[in-house]
Amino acid sequence: MQKYSLIKYWQSNNIITDQEVLTAFKKVERENFILKRYIKQAYEDIPLPIGFNATISQPTTVMIMTQSLEVKKGNKILEIGTGSGYQAALLSILTGEKGKVYTTELIKELADFAKQNLKEYKNIEVINIDGSAGYKKHAPYDKIIFTVAVPKIENLILEQLKDPGIYLAPIGDEYSQELIKVTKKDFQIKKESLGYFQFVPLKGKYGFK
Ligand code: SAH
Repeated sequence: MQKYSLIKYWQSNNIITDQEVLTAFKKVERENFILKRYIKQAYEDIPLPIGFNATISQPTTVMIMTQSLEVKKGNKILEIGTGSGYQAALLSILTGEKGKVYTTELIKELADFAKQNLKEYKNIEVINIDGSAGYKKHAPYDKIIFTVAVPKIENLILEQLKDPGIYLAPIGDEYSQELIKVTKKDFQIKKESLGYFQFVPLKGKYGFK
């Protein structure tokens, strides 16, 4: 599969319709976020291992999540599960230089891998911590995204979301999760399902035991 075949597939099936999201995908080279031995598969629509039981998610999944977050220029975004840094890179482009992406990663080696991959992205901060309780330091955020499977929606995370704001997380058990989009607006909370996905499990204080 080639980069442009993926774009064609998303457009002709109305999976990704947001032009800015497609432009961000064109700008970020996925091959710079994967291990060298998988280079030939950079644009296959599959997740790829990045070590430490983590994966860079499948492009279609990343794009659905990115589009669902409805990023506006200047947004302050929190990601839990930096992994390779690829998702953070897309969000960085969408929020622009006035925005900021804080991304948390539990595993030191992966945080270092991501920092290396993201050297050129000035509006991203990679933080090597357990992000299962969010990151109060810079809260509240316009957007919060878990790119890792979460057992349940924690109030302490929703408290770190602005009004209006969007929270996105795959909620379920360790094997299958429903991608839930939570919209906070005028003190109301609305939940919507975006379908079933498979992510690696969240570890740490509010993760899977
Ligand atoms: N968004 C990534 C893929 C994430 S894979 C990308 O674009 O490549 C999920 C990641 O979540 C893994 O790297 C895993 O180590 C990390 N993770 C698991 N539990 C975590 C926690 N409690 N806090 C922060 N990161 C966590």
